[in-house]
Amino acid sequence: MSVKHTVCLIPGDGIGPEVAEAARRVIDASGVSIEWVSLPAGAGAVESHGSTLPEETIRAIETHRVALKGPVTTPIGKGHTSVNVGLRKRLNLYAAVRPVRNLPGVASRYSDVDLVVLRENTEGLYSGIENEIVPGVVQSLKIATRPGCERIARYAFRYARSRGRKRVTVFHKANIMKMSDGLFLECARAIHAAEAPEIAYDELIIDNGCMQLVRDPSRFDIVLMENLYGDIVSDLCAGLVGGLGVVPGANIGDSSAVFEAVHGSAPDIAGKNLANPLALIMSGVMMLNHLGETEAAGRIKGGYDAVLSEGKPAELTRDIGGSGGTREFAEAIIRRM
Ligand code: ATP
Repeated sequence: MSVKHTVCLIPGDGIGPEVAEAARRVIDASGVSIEWVSLPAGAGAVESHGSTLPEETIRAIETHRVALKGPVTTPIGKGHTSVNVGLRKRLNLYAAVRPVRNLPGVASRYSDVDLVVLRENTEGLYSGIENEIVPGVVQSLKIATRPGCERIARYAFRYARSRGRKRVTVFHKANIMKMSDGLFLECARAIHAAEAPEIAYDELIIDNGCMQLVRDPSRFDIVLMENLYGDIVSDLCAGLVGGLGVVPGANIGDSSAVFEAVHGSAPDIAGKNLANPLALIMSGVMMLNHLGETEAAGRIKGGYDAVLSEGKPAELTRDIGGSGGTREFAEAIIRRM
C-alpha cells in the first residue's frame, strides 16, 4: 500500500469537469491512495467566489504542492485576465513540459514522433503588461530576464539528462527580437557549455523550426522556447500525433507542480460526453510519476495502451476515430488496468 497523497483537483470550465471526473476515477482505480481537495477556478468560480482565481485555490496548491487541473475558459479581448497565466505566475511554475508521442492505434501522418516541448511559462509576451500610448496605438511588452532564461535552460538540460534525452533545440526569433530572444539564446548557450556539454544543442529560427517539425518530427528530441512560441508549437505538435485529446502537460516550479492537458475548455463540445479524457489522464500519469507512484502510473499507461491498441470504436472518443464518449473511454481504461 502506498502512502496517502493530498492532491488539489481543479475541474475548471467547459469540458473540464467531465475530463477531470474521468481522470480522477482512473487514478483512484490505479491503487494509489489520494485525498482529493476540489478547488474552484475559471469562469465558474466568479459566481461562487467573485474571482476566476480565488486565493483559497492558490493557497491550497501552495500547501499541498500538487494539483491536477482541468482547462479553464479565458475570454478573448477585454475582461478577466487568464487564470492559467495567473496561476503559473503566482506559483512560479516556470517550466511547461509537454511530451508528444505517437500512441498505439491513434491515426497520425507520422509514426515516429517522440519529442518534448519545453515552454518558459512566466515571462515573454505573457507578462500581461499592455497599455495604450495614445488612442489607436497600443503596446504589449515582451519581458525576458537573465534569471528567468537561465532557470528554464537549466531545467531543460537537467530534464534531458535525467530522461536520457540527447538533444535540446531552441526555437527563437533572435534575428528580429535581438534583445529578448537574444538573451534567451545567450543563456541557453552558456548553461549548455557550462553544465551539460554532453547533450547535443542546436538552434532554429522558429518559422524554419515549424517547417522542419511538420516535415520530419523524428529529428527533434527536446524543443525549448519562450512562452508564446511554446503555446503555439504545443498545439502544432499535438496535431502531429492525433490532436489535442492526446497530449498531456505539467507546469513545474521549485515548490509546486500543476498537471494539465494542453487543450483548452472546448466549449463547442462541453457537457456532451464527447471530450477525450486521455490528455488529462496522461497528465495524471505524469503527476503520479512526479509523486513517485511509478507502479500506479504504469498500470494506467498499460490500461490506455491496451484500449488504444484494441481500437474498439465504442470505447474510444470521436476525435480519435471512435463512437464512444468520455465516460466509456475512462471505464474501458479501468477495465484493462
Ligand atoms: P485555449 O485558448 O483555452 O487553449 P483553444 O483555442 O486551444 O483553447 P480548445 O478548447 O483546446 O481551443 O479546442 C480546440 C479544438 O479542439 C476544439 O474544436 C475542441 O473541440 C477540440 N478539443 C480540445 N480538447 C479536446 C478533447 N479533450 N477532446 C476532443 N476534442 C477536443
